[in-house]
Amino acid sequence: MKFEELPLANPLQRAVRAVGYETPTPIQERSIPSLLKGKDLLGIAQTGTGKTAAFALPILQRLLDSGKFRSPKTCRALILLPTRELAIQVEDCFKAYAQFTAISTTCIFGGVGDGPQKRNLIRGVDVLVATPGRLLDLIGQKAVSLKKLEFFVLDEADRMLDMGFIHDIRKVVAMLPQNRQNLFFSATMPDEILKLASTILRPNPVQAEVAPQSTPIERIRQELYRIDKRRKGALLKELLAEHPEMKKVLVFCRTKHGADKIVRVLEKAGIKCAAIHGNKSQNRRQEALGNFKCEQIRVLVATDIAARGIDVDDVSHVFNYDLPNEHETFVHRIGRTARAGKEGVAISFCSPDEESDLRGIEKLTRVKIPEGDQSIYEKLPPPQKETAESLMRNSRGRMSREEAQARAAETRNNRGKHKGKNGKQNSGNTPAEGTAQNANAQSAHAESAKVRTGESPHINTPNPSQTSNGERRHRRNRPGSRARRRMRESQQN
Ligand code: AMP
Repeated sequence: MKFEELPLANPLQRAVRAVGYETPTPIQERSIPSLLKGKDLLGIAQTGTGKTAAFALPILQRLLDSGKFRSPKTCRALILLPTRELAIQVEDCFKAYAQFTAISTTCIFGGVGDGPQKRNLIRGVDVLVATPGRLLDLIGQKAVSLKKLEFFVLDEADRMLDMGFIHDIRKVVAMLPQNRQNLFFSATMPDEILKLASTILRPNPVQAEVAPQSTPIERIRQELYRIDKRRKGALLKELLAEHPEMKKVLVFCRTKHGADKIVRVLEKAGIKCAAIHGNKSQNRRQEALGNFKCEQIRVLVATDIAARGIDVDDVSHVFNYDLPNEHETFVHRIGRTARAGKEGVAISFCSPDEESDLRGIEKLTRVKIPEGDQSIYEKLPPPQKETAESLMRNSRGRMSREEAQARAAETRNNRGKHKGKNGKQNSGNTPAEGTAQNANAQSAHAESAKVRTGESPHINTPNPSQTSNGERRHRRNRPGSRARRRMRESQQN
């Protein structure tokens, strides 16, 4: 099927040609005809499938057909999305598709002043793209009302629920007029989402599902590098230095702090890059994204939430600097490359404590990720010896609850032992019991370190039980104690 065969008005056909689409994607082919007839739609599709045009084109067509006009401080179509990046992106699509019509669009989201957004709403707008919090805020301020709404789209419903927007969504839905066309999109459809959909859609909606995940994954060339977490920065630097064809590189990591750290490492190596995450202002995020899109920077480092929905054409390489705990996130991440039928490369770094995540990801995607170029390891600095402390910390730099408990038990035992020696307070344990408990705590600790490392061959695992002084060595590695030790040593010298 070609776009010309769809009953879309000339200005929309022109716009489709102007943005370079020739044939509708499967979700477009399935949805557009039914939506043009005014039916509700339940769409199971993720970003990258062309779902924005699948709902935008028929909504624009019906807005043109209706012959109605917008009233002040109202909107005729509302698209609700979880993040500002997605909202901006979807509004950009509406603008592009409506460029040869008089249809007006605007976008509202939090994190920026509401003055300009309120001004844009004064005369009313045909298409309003919004995040839930700012929408409710502006409704509360009477800057906009939903009473004239004709089309309602809830996009990325599963992510909305993950991000805790369920109450906001219910509030918005309660304000909608009864007579409206509804479109509901989600990448996954667990029971909870289906229940929500049934409160929004009219009975018997058209269902459109596009093959999840499998198609893009097949087009993505994947590589895996097993590397201890302390050398991930050096490995990333080396790969970027060796491969000039890595032109538009998206690096995913778990934490905001981690993202900033990667940017520091790359900037030091003269690589142009920027980070986007929740602590960056909206303007900084937009600036970084804009610079990345027009290739003024080579690398964009992002956390998952910030990167959700960002649509950048021609991402050549996606790096999973940290593997995500939620294995489906891996699919979302690598789906940023190989878009719209193009090829792409996804490179994943796996440290010993991420082996179980790797297994989960390979199971979910049914793909065994092949190992990358082994000669690269020779160009890296030698592995630093892991300390008992660093082994106990997960890749977020935090200790798990069990580890923290084992360590607290160990500290208590040590205290009891030392006080016993001084002949003061013995915590009720005989010295033998104290030592036995201590040994238990140590073996619990060694055990948990073993679980974290998955007995992997990556690193030299210091085993506290191998040394008669394992407990003292452990204490020495506590944060802050290095500074105290240096001070003591300098006093002794
Ligand atoms: P979406 O899933 O809506 O985020 O779209 C993903 C990407 O596919 C965007 O860059 C769109 O511009 C592009 N796209 C959408 N529909 C088509 C089409 N029919 N032909 C080619 N590219 C498309």
